[in-house]
Amino acid sequence: MEQTLTIIKPDSMAAGNAGKILAHLEQEGFQILALRRIHLSEAQARSFYEVHKERPFYDDLVAYMTEAPVIAAALEREDAVAHLRRVMGATNPEEAAAGTIRALYGTSIERNAIHGSDSPENAAIETDFFFSRADLLPS
Ligand code: GDP
Repeated sequence: MEQTLTIIKPDSMAAGNAGKILAHLEQEGFQILALRRIHLSEAQARSFYEVHKERPFYDDLVAYMTEAPVIAAALEREDAVAHLRRVMGATNPEEAAAGTIRALYGTSIERNAIHGSDSPENAAIETDFFFSRADLLPS
């Protein structure tokens, strides 16, 4: 079993799509290990997306990710990282395959509904960002 980290982004929350997206993920076989609603501060959003700090869209991305609460979730499934990326679809919803979460709920390359870790290494780092070890221990 592998773990990954997802964020239901502010556009999805504002549009009332969080429940549908979580249901979609459960339908795809992901188990929700931990779940947290959080309104990111500017410092938290800057830190989470630090890897993008030289990109021209960094300030816009931080503003977007702090405009409303998000839901972060630690997910488990076989091949979780790659499967979540498939289920999410391409970064730009216009290029995302039909039926993917970004095709269904994203509205622009920025406001694309959902985040998913891009590697097992980043999944571990990003899960640590939102959750403590105690949150992830088996019940
Ligand atoms: P992801 O792994 O598919 O989420 O894509 P990236 O890691 O490349 O980008 C992180 C996030 O930054 C994306 O999910 C978008 O919300 C945003 N983003 C990516 N590319 C662009 C862009 O060209 N313009 C803007 N405004 N936002 C972008």
